[in-house]
Amino acid sequence: MQSAIEAPQWFSQGAEHVWRPYTQMKTASPALPVVSAEGTRLRLADGRELIDGVGAWWTVVHGYRHPHIEAAITAQLRTLPHVMFGGLAHESAYTLATRLAALLPGDLNHAFFSDSGSVAVEVALKMAAQFWLNQGVRGRTRFLAFQGGYHGDTFATMAVCDPEEGMHALFRGIVREEPVVPLPVTNEDFARFEAFLEREGRTVAALLIEPLVQGAGGMRMHAPETLRRISELARSHGILVVFDEIFVGFGRLGSLFAMQQAAVVPDIVCLGKALTGGFLPLAVTVASSRVFEAFLDDSPSKALMHGPTFMGNALACAAANASLDLFEREPRLAQVQQIETWLSAGLAAARGAPNVVDVRVKGALGVIQLRQLPPAARLERQFADAGVFLRPFANILYTTPAYVSDEAEIAQLTRALVAAAELDPSRA
Ligand SMILES: *Cc1c(COP(=O)(O)O)cnc(C)c1O
Repeated sequence: MQSAIEAPQWFSQGAEHVWRPYTQMKTASPALPVVSAEGTRLRLADGRELIDGVGAWWTVVHGYRHPHIEAAITAQLRTLPHVMFGGLAHESAYTLATRLAALLPGDLNHAFFSDSGSVAVEVALKMAAQFWLNQGVRGRTRFLAFQGGYHGDTFATMAVCDPEEGMHALFRGIVREEPVVPLPVTNEDFARFEAFLEREGRTVAALLIEPLVQGAGGMRMHAPETLRRISELARSHGILVVFDEIFVGFGRLGSLFAMQQAAVVPDIVCLGKALTGGFLPLAVTVASSRVFEAFLDDSPSKALMHGPTFMGNALACAAANASLDLFEREPRLAQVQQIETWLSAGLAAARGAPNVVDVRVKGALGVIQLRQLPPAARLERQFADAGVFLRPFANILYTTPAYVSDEAEIAQLTRALVAAAELDPSRA
């Protein structure tokens, strides 16, 4: 742990003033001051180096300070760092929209930029709602989502998160009550899901799902076939299908987009997180032609009513284009496949430990689900001593390493995770 003597002044002063995310400020141990990062590693103020096993909240897929992305941002900085998107256009955003349309399957061809995943989901919800209103349909006003899901921290997105993780009880009366149902897996589940759609499907504007892995809601996985069945059922009830690929997009599960593994194309997809390779905040909501065309009208009030100030920020779009270059030029998806085998081999040792409920791996995502997480301070200490940064939540130990991680780095991460899974969670 950082001692007061070693702590830089900006840290000890600022710690009084910075309100940290999802953190009980009264009891939490201090954050680790980071002074630089390179490749897979963070360098702390006291000189220690830690492998970032979280990849800066799942975003740093090519490693920190990748020279190609750095150069693209620098070049953009020297010509046009930012310009408003209302009435003005710039090359990086227009090129990025064109490239995303080419990379995404089907006719997902119309990109609406924003600065965070939560806002990209808000935009998707607004698109879906207005899609129906623009066509004179008044009854489709609700959003259907799944337990275990996570779609953001803003009020509309909290309503479509898992009721517990989304704090629906805490915010009762403030967060809208949307139908958040169990994600169907078995045939009986599907019969119940279908019965729900028969009963209430006509009131639903859109269904929202994270394809193949529900991330922040618990790292739960489902089969491509399940995703396909859910999408088809929703469609057969006229419901728009929104895929939230903010976590799983850009290679995390071994394909550029998770939807490709199920060969289904949604009406709208949300992308964020790894979009810029973890360099700058950027998100995008991409709509199919059918959705887009419902907004084409002589009436100005049928335009999509949204427009973030920093929409299509040029630095962020330049970073995203450079990140896409790297997916083209370097064997990223093969690296993810390789990481999957290393993670599977490394985490297998946790199976059978008394505190372990499940071990699961998909692409560059390794998960150990515990009965009970050991005390946070104990884990933080143990991970730092093992030379890694990991940040468990709920009852989940996991790693989302950069795709450029080598075998030794993945082994160091899996050893640290297995050691944490073997701790007696009742001891401090
Ligand atoms: C992180 C995440 C979001 C929210 O993105 P922010 O950029 O944190 O607002 C939404 N959906 C999924 C699936 C996510 O993983």
